[in-house]
Amino acid sequence: MIIDISNMAELAWEKMDGLLPAIVQDAISGKVLMQGYMNPEALETTLTSGKVTFFSRSKQRLWQKGETSGNTLDLVEAGCDCDHDSLLIMATPNGPTCHTGEESCWFTSKPADFTFLADLERVLAERKTADPTSSYTASLYAKGIKRIAQKVGEEGVETALAATVNDTEELKNEAADLLYHLTVLLQASDMSLSDAISVLQARHK
Ligand code: AMP
Ligand code: ZN
Ligand code: ZN
Ligand code: ZN
Repeated sequence: MIIDISNMAELAWEKMDGLLPAIVQDAISGKVLMQGYMNPEALETTLTSGKVTFFSRSKQRLWQKGETSGNTLDLVEAGCDCDHDSLLIMATPNGPTCHTGEESCWFTSKPADFTFLADLERVLAERKTADPTSSYTASLYAKGIKRIAQKVGEEGVETALAATVNDTEELKNEAADLLYHLTVLLQASDMSLSDAISVLQARHK
């Protein structure tokens, strides 16, 4: 169930003594960022302000994540689990979420393969405003959309050729080149891999 102000009362507050665990996930990569607790006031504040806010058990007060560090979490969507006693908060982080400076509080865990594409895309997006002499990606943006599109074409052909001659090592490398250049091309067009993924999701019925 997606949670909004109107259905907050359906959550299992009584059973949980007024405090639900809230897991925060990066809305794009799906990375688990942190976990805290929310009372009804914290959840309501999160929903109305758009800034993820917990009830701090140590401080015994509402705590907007990032209130001192500035590393706030922008709410994308709040949901709950099957029996309504646990919250899942999808959010966009502004800076590292863990107080150690790490992106996630679970920095010891192995990152899932597919979330790396989201991490890479974020870096490639930042290169759009970088000095063209400072990186290959920045120099690609400076050459313009036609050159980037041409690279995607070349890497697509190289990927196809590697597959036809059954060269798995080459296929791996060319597919990587293609994914990288495709991401740059989308970014140069002010689009994202997310846009293509949305189309695939919509088709997947
Ligand atoms: P902040 O909310 O980022 O301004 O941080 C304020 C304080 O909250 C920090 O000094 C930490 O004690 C605590 N804190 C911040 N982020 C986390 C987190 N992800 N998990 C647990 N405690 C945190
Ligand atoms: Zn549950
Ligand atoms: Zn942490
Ligand atoms: Zn290549």
